[in-house]
Order: sequence, then structure tokens, then C-alpha cells
Amino acid sequence: MSGSEARKIRLLMELRRNGVIDTRVLSAVERVPREFFVPQPFLDRAYDNTALPIGHGQTVSQPMIVALMTQALAVKDKMKVLEIGTGSGYQTCVLARLCRRVYTIERHRPLLREAEARFHQLRIHNVTAIVGDGMRGWPDQAPFDRIIVTAAAEDVPSTLVDQLAVGGIMVLPVGKSGRPDQQVVRLTKTDDGLIPENLFPVRFVPLVAGLPG
Ligand code: SAH
Repeated sequence: MSGSEARKIRLLMELRRNGVIDTRVLSAVERVPREFFVPQPFLDRAYDNTALPIGHGQTVSQPMIVALMTQALAVKDKMKVLEIGTGSGYQTCVLARLCRRVYTIERHRPLLREAEARFHQLRIHNVTAIVGDGMRGWPDQAPFDRIIVTAAAEDVPSTLVDQLAVGGIMVLPVGKSGRPDQQVVRLTKTDDGLIPENLFPVRFVPLVAGLPG
């Protein structure tokens, strides 16, 4: 077994110990090679349970957080999922293994181009990616069965709630950036309104409106 295989197995065991029990999520994490998503100097840390820098002041999220947020999203295979904050594309690929199509939006064009090259290399064909301000969502493709935001908003963006189907679920970190008191929140949209649940504390980079100047 190669060193990276052994590290991957250790990571999967750590995810299980920390409450990732959905076998579809575990096998999606197992099948997405995280070494494709981290810059060369960090290759030997690709299967560490840590966030790593990807340039432009952004990070690829910690595998535990990716797995727990994906599990909370309860994605089924016929679903249409919107992701805000493509970054490296790692979370996108985990989602793409679990649903019909992922629509993903990133505000940094160079990051999106790199992520698209990875989707191509990994032969992941059920992702549609655009450069844009994810706070506006993707009105042409709405409604979405699931929405995930991988950058922290100070408040839940109401435009995204509007683009969530009734019966749909949205998972996002809420709170001030860099502060330790951000929470991953799950919102379930029902006929009678939104049901919010606080899931766990996190620290994400901020969701920023508009495109870089
Ligand atoms: N899910 C990513 C981690 C992303 S870090 C991964 O697995 O690698 C958060 C990303 O959100 C950054 O790339 C940042 O540029 C992007 N982002 C922040 N605000 C945004 C916005 N309004 N619209 C789109 N992307 C945004």
C-alpha cells in the first residue's frame, strides 16, 4: 500500500469516529483524490485533516468539515445541487459523486479555471461552473433541491433561500469571518417556512459580495 493510501484510510477512520456514518458520503470522500486539489508544496499533507491554502487568500476546506456538511445536506442521486464557493473544486467533486448535477459559482476566475481543469482530468462531467457572485445564486437554474455555501455569511442570503425548492435543504456557515463562533446551520424549507438547526462550530473564509476588482 502506498503512503498516501494509508493516510487516506486513516483519514476515513477519523471521519467515522467523528460522526460521519453515511456510507455514500464516506465512499464519495474515498473516491475523490484530494492530492489533485492541493498545491504541490502541500502534497504530503493532502490526507491530513486540515484546511490548506489554494491561493488568492482562500483554502480547501478540512476534510472533516466537507464530510459533515455533505452528510448534513442529505444529497440523493436525482438531485440538483447549488454550491457557492467552488475554491479548489474538492467539495464540488464530493457532491458530484452523490447527485445528478452540481451548479457551482466562484468569484475568483483563476480558481474556477483550475477547478474546471480538475473536473476534466477526473472525468467528472456532471458539474456546471461559472464565475460570479454566488450571493445572487443562479436564478436561471432555480429551484435547487440542495444548496451548500462554503464561505461564511454574516446573515443567511435571502436570495439563496428563494432559490431553494420547498422540501429542500441548505447548509452554510453563518457568522463573522475569522471569528471562532461561526456555526454551520442547516435550513429546511417547508410550506410553513424555514426550520433552522445549528450543527457545529467552524471557521470559514468570508462570503464576499461582488467580483474581485
Ligand atoms: N469548497 C472549497 C473551499 C472554498 S473556500 C473547496 O473545497 O476547495 C471559499 C470560496 O468561496 C473561495 O474560493 C472564495 O473565493 C469563494 N467565495 C467567497 N465569496 C463568494 C461569492 N460571493 N460568490 C462566489 N464565491 C465566493
